[in-house]
Amino acid sequence: MSRPYNFSAGPAMLPEEVLQRAREEMLDWQGSGMSVMEMSHRGKEYMSIAEKAEATLREIMGIPAGYKVLFLQGGASSQFAMVPMNLLRGKKGADYINTGAWSKKAIAEARRYGTVNVAASSEADGFHSVPAFDSWSLDPDAAYVHYTPNETIGGVEFPWIPKTGDVPLVADMSSTILSRPLDVSKFGVIYAGAQKNVGPAGLTLVIVREDLIGETLPGTPTMFDYAVHAENDSMYNTPATYAWYLAGLVFEWIRDKGGLSAMAEINRRKAEKLYAAIDGSPFYANPVDPSCRSWMNVPFTLANPAMDPVFLSEAATIGLLTLKGHRSAGGMRASIYNAMPEAGVDRLVEFMADFEKRHG
Ligand SMILES: *Cc1c(COP(=O)(O)O)cnc(C)c1O
Repeated sequence: MSRPYNFSAGPAMLPEEVLQRAREEMLDWQGSGMSVMEMSHRGKEYMSIAEKAEATLREIMGIPAGYKVLFLQGGASSQFAMVPMNLLRGKKGADYINTGAWSKKAIAEARRYGTVNVAASSEADGFHSVPAFDSWSLDPDAAYVHYTPNETIGGVEFPWIPKTGDVPLVADMSSTILSRPLDVSKFGVIYAGAQKNVGPAGLTLVIVREDLIGETLPGTPTMFDYAVHAENDSMYNTPATYAWYLAGLVFEWIRDKGGLSAMAEINRRKAEKLYAAIDGSPFYANPVDPSCRSWMNVPFTLANPAMDPVFLSEAATIGLLTLKGHRSAGGMRASIYNAMPEAGVDRLVEFMADFEKRHG
């Protein structure tokens, strides 16, 4: 069976090798006689799976000592609330950078808990760039600075990490985590819903510096307290056991492929090919400033939007799926996370040229 290339923004493709291995282990995980789904999260088999997943993630990301890795639920959307609840720590408010749809959601949620200073925004240019760092009006007394390194809908990605000095930097990395090497020590908190570049939906990764844990807003629900999850190794309650296991298999897959620098090399090449195809033709367009185009989510439009449905249905017949753009953006979007093979991008680029020849 040849698998289609699924360009969905999330839930997204998983590496075929990972799915094969999950299938082999489905009914009987390593002689236990059980599926991972059936195991007690407190049993020794599952504990070994959970610990190994964390250890492999720490290895591939180079997560330093002094950071906790939490395997939570509730999606990145829950982190929009958990971040202010845990990080305001007696301060009045926090700085937020607004680069698009996901930034806006994080900002709206944070406003429920404190004062939000939008220290920089690219709204004036339609979110087609990231605001230059020297234009940011950061508050030295902010509890933290929050930004969205990759805007999944707009296809805008920061090519640099902001320097916020002593103010902790918080990043919603849902759609860019594991796409390239990262200096984790520059961050106070990194969080990501798993369903883009980590594993199945239902799991949320939070990497948090230990000194930021343990001082929540009054009224914070137990389940929203980082300290509760940190003290219980993410097993205060039943975690998303199967998603955690599968994420562990993805981490091993990344390690065995050469780690994040190998991922970065392939991702850069995939993105370059796709943007070259878009820029090289008057039929296709991408509005994002080339200096901050996303490696992971590539929105593009056709010169004649009336052809969008034809493009989508012809693409689907040759196994190029889920290319429809986000409902707020229109056009197309190709999400090309780690698990999208380079051959999938090659096939898309070929199809685009062919489609233009026939319909352009
Ligand atoms: C998908 C996404 C979210 C929302 O994630 P959920 O896990 O569905 O809550 C938040 N931020 C970014 C950048 C995303 O790509």
